[in-house]
Amino acid sequence: MEWFFLPWTLMAYLPGDFNATWHGSERNRYEPPGSAEKWLIEIVYETVAAETRCTRCGAPLERPRLRAGAWPVRVATRCRGSARHRHRAAVSRAPDGLHTDPLIRA
Ligand SMILES: [Zn+2]
Repeated sequence: MEWFFLPWTLMAYLPGDFNATWHGSERNRYEPPGSAEKWLIEIVYETVAAETRCTRCGAPLERPRLRAGAWPVRVATRCRGSARHRHRAAVSRAPDGLHTDPLIRA
């Protein structure tokens, strides 16, 4: 699934406070990720991790963990191989939605 390795943008079709936050004041742009955003990022990277193999040893990846206290959200996981290679990605917020990085070996 090569397209998973390309950065792409998730359009912000989420209802309610996400749009209010995004189109709000400059101050609001720096608010930490909301629950809808965290949920979306979690779903995306769980899917990506399930479809991705470690680039070093070929082992499947574990379920990713988020550090979502502020932007950019950090995503981290390890492969299930004996070396447990670390893989990371970052998700940032942009005017057209969420920009996601590919999960790459740290
Ligand atoms: Zn590995």
